Amino acid sequence: MLKEKPKEIIKEKIEEELKHLEIEIKSLIEQAQPITPDCTLDDLGRTEAMTEVMVHGKILEQAKLKRTRLRNALSRIDDDMFGICVECGEPINIERIMVRPESIRCVKCAD
Ligand SMILES: [Zn+2]
Repeated sequence: MLKEKPKEIIKEKIEEELKHLEIEIKSLIEQAQPITPDCTLDDLGRTEAMTEVMVHGKILEQAKLKRTRLRNALSRIDDDMFGICVECGEPINIERIMVRPESIRCVKCAD
């Protein structure tokens, strides 16, 4: 179980990251809008535009996934199991949690 102080720091960090993610997701949603079929692009340009939309869509999916994980981490932070690896039951390195608060596995098990 984590001591109170790092827990507060991690909480703040997660909230901060979530704020950034919200902004990122918002702009990605705009960029991932499907192109209108009547646009003036030729076939190549259309393909490129579609690829770009797909790439943005993929980044968007990852950003959403990370948001879900961070929200989960935030809801678990007061739990005794927070910071404990789900695979081996060992405490996850605090530095790792600081860098990636959504981690549910220790370095060894994440590989
Ligand atoms: Zn582990």
